[in-house]
Amino acid sequence: MNSTPASAKPNVLILGGTTEGSELARLIADDDRIAPVLSLAGRTKSPKLPPIPYRIGGFGGIDGLTRYLREQHIDAVIDATHPFAERMTANAVAAARQTGVPLLRIDRPAWRPVAGDRWTVVADMNAAARALGPTPRRVFLTIGQKDLAAFRAAPQHHYVIRSVDPPAREALPPDCAVISATGPFGLDAERRQLQQERIDVIVTKNSGGMATAAKLTAAREAGIEVIMVERPPTPDVDTVPSAEAALNWLERLAAGPHRTASPTRRSE
Ligand code: NAP
Repeated sequence: MNSTPASAKPNVLILGGTTEGSELARLIADDDRIAPVLSLAGRTKSPKLPPIPYRIGGFGGIDGLTRYLREQHIDAVIDATHPFAERMTANAVAAARQTGVPLLRIDRPAWRPVAGDRWTVVADMNAAARALGPTPRRVFLTIGQKDLAAFRAAPQHHYVIRSVDPPAREALPPDCAVISATGPFGLDAERRQLQQERIDVIVTKNSGGMATAAKLTAAREAGIEVIMVERPPTPDVDTVPSAEAALNWLERLAAGPHRTASPTRRSE
């Protein structure tokens, strides 16, 4: 915890790159009780810039983030990174411990299978590539760019890869088509996509949220299998499910001496 006077606005670092990070930025843009800064990793070429102060690029590991929190007199950190941004989340937990700065995580609920779904749940991308099996299939890969290389080990399949920015060539499996697109994706568009590309199976991370959920409905309707990569373990930090709930936490922080009552601690 930094020694900002109780009367000053709390300085809040939001680790973003997600719908929730952008949503929180929008919610607090006109709130003069809070001094926020949104942090983006700098992965996407043309990120949508927030209506609040922002910074772009890594901090330099745990030490770099710890230094940043101290130098910028940060009073609270909101970790609104993606459920699969495992390293950034671990760094935030470690830096918050070292500095005593309160940390809240926004963790959007995971998707759950419903009647009619044909999900094969796997632990990681290598397991997902193996789960495709030996027979050539037409695979819709909606996993972003980072983990594509795992599918080079299953070159018998044709892959339709959708990602925000074009992936590096060396990461691609040999037989593939790349679609650069940014969500949200509507149900009609997803139905068309599966049909046009004659998709047999979808591979996705269990990201949760609405922006990319329509493909699951389209798959269910068409009886298409979904290979669902499970989330990494949830860190043991105070967690809320939405930007609105994070805003409530921040409002309590702004009203108090910049130390808040903890929300529910979740360790599922
Ligand atoms: P990661 O593997 O957990 O993080 C790798 C490194 O990237 C971190 O150690 C940190 O570098 C830097 N970094 C990550 N998020 C950052 C942020 N918000 N601000 C500043 N630096 C950040 O992360 P990732 O999975 O590559 O994700 C990168 C970004 O894309 C995150 O903002 C995440 O929310 C977003 N995103 C990820 C996914 C996904 O599936 N992984 C999907 C959608 C959006 P230093 O160690 O140098 O600080």
